[in-house]
Amino acid sequence: RAKQLGRSRYSFFQQDMDAAAVQRMELERELKLALERDELLLHYQAVVDARTGAWSGLEALMRWQHPQRGLVMPGQFIELAEETGQILDLGWSTIEQACAQLARWKASGRHPGPISINLSALQFREPRLAERIAEAMRRHAVTPGELAIELTESSLLTDTDTVLQTLARLSELGLSLSVDDFGTGYSSLAYLKLLRPARLKIDRAFVRDLPSSADDRALVRAMMGMAEALGIDVVAEGVETEAQRDALLALGCWQQQGYFYCRPQPAAALAERLAVWPPQAGASRLARG
Ligand code: C2E
Ligand code: MG
Ligand code: MG
Ligand code: MG
Repeated sequence: RAKQLGRSRYSFFQQDMDAAAVQRMELERELKLALERDELLLHYQAVVDARTGAWSGLEALMRWQHPQRGLVMPGQFIELAEETGQILDLGWSTIEQACAQLARWKASGRHPGPISINLSALQFREPRLAERIAEAMRRHAVTPGELAIELTESSLLTDTDTVLQTLARLSELGLSLSVDDFGTGYSSLAYLKLLRPARLKIDRAFVRDLPSSADDRALVRAMMGMAEALGIDVVAEGVETEAQRDALLALGCWQQQGYFYCRPQPAAALAERLAVWPPQAGASRLARG
């Protein structure tokens, strides 16, 4: 009897595993279709100068407009895409869409400032990454300084020689590098030394409990001091309240991003708030990050 019960439990467990595996395969198959059917699109979130409230650029964030599931967030498909290798095609789509959108905004008389795109470390194994970015930029007349990259550390960078060569090439093309989610995961001090980024983005884990957390104030202060000594800019992520904004400002961190200022949203919803392009005579020039 006990044996029987044991066996049926085991098979329940087995069924659960199978269900998870089936779901994963289903998602993988749907993601392949999504790439073919152009269901992946970008939303954009402002990067803000908290001293003035002026927008200084945008970050492009991918969403999946699924025919049945609705809007699917990156948390539900980026990791899978990295495991299956689909992140490469997904990444090309991000690059293409960001360049195309920038060109559309400029053609309509608006400019968002630099657009940051997120790249997976895995994309750096693609030897033609820099060339393909250069090609997309040429095709859409994107000029140096208009596009930037954020490296998301969901996987360790391997083959650092290739990575550094690619980054050097991207830098020649006028793309600066941000280390994303700084202070968490693999985004460690070693990355600052190795990659020499233009910018680090303080993960929202360090912003969430401001201003009350003395520990987080100390950590942000330390990150600011280190960045300043190394000549690296800092952006704080996940600013949701006025109190968080003020705490960060008091610590010298004035480049901020978060729901307090702007939620990620479709390009069309942002157009009105973007700077006029080309700049009108006498108008204040667009801040460049
Ligand atoms: P990330 O690059 O660190 O982006 C910041 C995430 O925080 C975004 O989540 C954004 O919507 C969210 N966020 C912004 N402000 C706030 C706030 O005030 N409060 C809170 N709670 N969250 C805020 P999202 O859009 O779900 O993206 C998650 C991650 O997926 C990104 O983290 C990035 O690592 C990755 N990702 C997004 N798009 C792409 C892409 O095109 N390619 C690659 N490789 N990764 C991407
Ligand atoms: Mg990012
Ligand atoms: Mg981040
Ligand atoms: Mg992240």
